[in-house]
Amino acid sequence: MKTIILIFVLFSTSLIAKDSGKVCDWIITGGGYQEYLDDMPPTDFYSAFHVVVGNDGRCEYGWRWNPTTRALENVIQESFNDCEKWKKESNIEGECKPYDINKEIVWGKPEFIKELIETSIEEIKSISGPPYDGTIFHFKDVIKYSDPTTFKEIVYVGQYTRKLYDKRKYDWINNKAYLFDVSYDDGLTIQIQVNSEFKNSNTALNIASKYAKVIGQLPTVLRNDVHTVTIHKGDASFGGGSNDILIHSEADSYILDGQLEETLIHEASHVSLNWPGYTLDHGYTKGWRAAQKADDEFISTYAKEHPTEEDIAESFLVWMALRYRTDRISESDVNKILKAIPNRIKYFDEQEFDMYPIVPRE
Ligand SMILES: [Zn+2]
Repeated sequence: MKTIILIFVLFSTSLIAKDSGKVCDWIITGGGYQEYLDDMPPTDFYSAFHVVVGNDGRCEYGWRWNPTTRALENVIQESFNDCEKWKKESNIEGECKPYDINKEIVWGKPEFIKELIETSIEEIKSISGPPYDGTIFHFKDVIKYSDPTTFKEIVYVGQYTRKLYDKRKYDWINNKAYLFDVSYDDGLTIQIQVNSEFKNSNTALNIASKYAKVIGQLPTVLRNDVHTVTIHKGDASFGGGSNDILIHSEADSYILDGQLEETLIHEASHVSLNWPGYTLDHGYTKGWRAAQKADDEFISTYAKEHPTEEDIAESFLVWMALRYRTDRISESDVNKILKAIPNRIKYFDEQEFDMYPIVPRE
């Protein structure tokens, strides 16, 4: 579609080069064109104005303007269509040709039209919204299976009744869960609560151990406020908040897609960086608010749709990728991150987060 329009524009303007100069006085100097210019908004729009000069000397015109969220090519096409409509109405034999594009007179200047279209395509690309849909899907190697873990020990403490959130029911349940105390070599501890629907304490131990190790791969700053990890069966999505990471052990896609660790980084970011009432909720600091405002864009559509709930969790993962895993991400990703959220990146840079074991202890 784009190519066809481009070809049309180039072809038609090369034909009109010869009759540049006087173009239908009643349109250009007699008011039609001026009216169109006067109606335009002051900024952020694309526009086109077409004129047809009939074989008998009679003329017609058409025009279009649109906000820059639409492609310039479409605006040119619609201006052409408008001109065609009036041409038919007035029974004029001739061709509708662009007179101005974006208020630049292009009559008889085909190379100029090409340039305007190319510039607008670049502009469209640069204002087309957040670079990612959700960050966990695009940064899968921030932590790999083989990366170091702080995990030290897991100890079964017995079955006790706990109030657990169950995403399959979207409700709290009372459950006599298998409990495990887990310790990490940076001094942090968590308790893993495994739903009693698992067969026995051994099965529960296996599943708890698996997650205890992966969670131990998260930097200290993200485990600071994680007091419990809750594990159910089922494939509901993971969650994070209120000092807990919520896991559904059959949500296999996280593992199959290689984004288990990154999903846990995301959920732990909710718990330790962006939850009211415990330690510092970065989402409400002046610095974070100012960074959000100063950046042109959000890192993902998900963050943009939930700016208070998801922006920190979505952005922290890419900050980690950018600052600690440059060798695992592409140059294009580096550019996208720095273009979309440079101020949020700077905000994270300034926090002096404890990134052990990503960064070894001295
Ligand atoms: Zn989230």
